[in-house]
Amino acid sequence: MSDFAQTVKQQADIVKVIGGYIRLRKSGAQNYSGLCPFHKEKSPSFNVHASKQFFHCFGCGQSGDVFSFVAKIENLTFPEAVRTVAQKCGIPLPKREFNSPEEAAEAGQRRKLLDLHEIAAQWFEEQLRSPEGAIAREYLAGRGVTPEAIKLFRIGYSPDNFNGLRDRLASMADAETLRASGLFSSKDSEDAGGNVVRGHIYDRFRKRVMFPICNESGKVIAFTARTLDAGGDGKSGPKYLNSPETPLYTKGQVLFNLDKAKSAMRQMEFALLVEGQMDCISVYMRGIQNVIATSGTAFTEQQVGLLRRQTTNVVVNFDPDAAGANAAEKSIALLTEEGFTIKVVTLDGGLDPDRYIRERGVEGYAAAIRGARRQSDYLIERARQQFPGSSSDAKIKAMNYLLPHIRRIPQKLERDQFAHDAAQKLGIESAVLREELRQAALKRQDHIEMRSTGLLPWERFFIEAACNDSKSQQEYDALHADLRAFDRKLKEAGADWQELLQNFPAGLLVRLLERRLGEDIEHTAETEEQRILLHRVFLEAGELTRTHEQDMEIVRDLEIRALKGKIAKLRTAVELATDRNSLETIRLSQEILQLERKLRELECGE
Ligand SMILES: [Zn+2]
Repeated sequence: MSDFAQTVKQQADIVKVIGGYIRLRKSGAQNYSGLCPFHKEKSPSFNVHASKQFFHCFGCGQSGDVFSFVAKIENLTFPEAVRTVAQKCGIPLPKREFNSPEEAAEAGQRRKLLDLHEIAAQWFEEQLRSPEGAIAREYLAGRGVTPEAIKLFRIGYSPDNFNGLRDRLASMADAETLRASGLFSSKDSEDAGGNVVRGHIYDRFRKRVMFPICNESGKVIAFTARTLDAGGDGKSGPKYLNSPETPLYTKGQVLFNLDKAKSAMRQMEFALLVEGQMDCISVYMRGIQNVIATSGTAFTEQQVGLLRRQTTNVVVNFDPDAAGANAAEKSIALLTEEGFTIKVVTLDGGLDPDRYIRERGVEGYAAAIRGARRQSDYLIERARQQFPGSSSDAKIKAMNYLLPHIRRIPQKLERDQFAHDAAQKLGIESAVLREELRQAALKRQDHIEMRSTGLLPWERFFIEAACNDSKSQQEYDALHADLRAFDRKLKEAGADWQELLQNFPAGLLVRLLERRLGEDIEHTAETEEQRILLHRVFLEAGELTRTHEQDMEIVRDLEIRALKGKIAKLRTAVELATDRNSLETIRLSQEILQLERKLRELECGE
């Protein structure tokens, strides 16, 4: 270790430096602990020793000093980490030292790109203040962005000019570095040999409001730019244009405003997640400072990692439109998998956070955040909105929508609670849902096919009739009298309904028919399998809304079935008869003819 590194290490407070990245709590005289930023965990096994100046994680075994921590977490080389720590502690930097020329070149390019972005940000800020920037100032004023917000978020303007920024930065770096910065575009072409011929570079961002995107340390690493051409003729490009990926900036690895929001997040013990930069700025400027934006895309794993260092509680407030709801759902899904606790704000009036806070004030918005719903409640509500009604079809669809969300929850207790709530609110017997969940989890499927009981119409008819408790004693008795009448009719046709059962245990049906009104149906089941089967029958049935005609149809089906069975039996008897001309055989043949006539009548609809 160089003398300089030694000096920095002696002066730097490791607790303070690491505490700038993750939440640390005092856990002993010299000890601090927190959630490890290098592996997933729910309880803290990451420790920092104040006087010995090292960190150690009992979970993943990572350990080291302040430099190795910063190098690892910021993805820096060791010399870069030394310089970063020195800067954090206000120690003046000496000339740079590197281990290898490649390392020096890489660090050199990164530093150069950071410089270019810093100067570009300053230049955009100047342009916003210039006469040409009036159009952008007007737009920002119209959106309620105050001069303080413009200053704090370093909002700028890129003029309608192909060379402005290029001329400003040309003397600072060679053409390759300028290209690598992502601040410029160029018209490249291919020559006859297929080699790329680089065209001249020109400003990528033109006639746009410029929002700098900063890394965790607050350094500008990219821009997101909103067009000021309202025409939408396609000539001016997309509404929002972002920097391309560069050595500094990888899409999905940055959270907008994390640099400013992180201390408030740790203090308030939750992060407020909004969709757009404008929402984020608006909310932040009203004093709710734990707010970050995903910049319109769904959350990525890297972003979750960044967030985890600050808090594992998130309140999501995306736009109420369909795109917003979908983005919210995707982000919720990922955060859930990662063990976050999530609440969801739905602003009434279909407003986005920016509009809402301007119309209802910060108190109104704060109240909306306090009233945020648990993610399970939010998702159940979404399910009910998408699949309204109490039909079994709607219930199964709603359940299928919820299942992946439920299965994603890592903690068993919470998963069970969610499943229980969903079942209750959707009106599903939760034993069925639990069984289906178990099955789906076993097979690692993302949805269930609510396996059909495959009941035949008459099976369903008997079971539902036998289980129908929504009637008076009289009606119940009448119904069971009807069932006995069917029984007689079937016996006359030479069949027994018990023989007709294919998918339902006859014993269970007998017990159901013997059940008295109001007696617990579940008690008729003798095994867990039978109990689940009963639940499934009811779930499939939904509401009993069959008409008398449909019931008659079922009775006819039954009779036909019984007749066919009897005819088949008689035919076998005739074929087995030793004497085809005996009186008995002739009598059987005549009976078959009679039954067949009856069958034809029934099949023709009488
Ligand atoms: Zn660890």
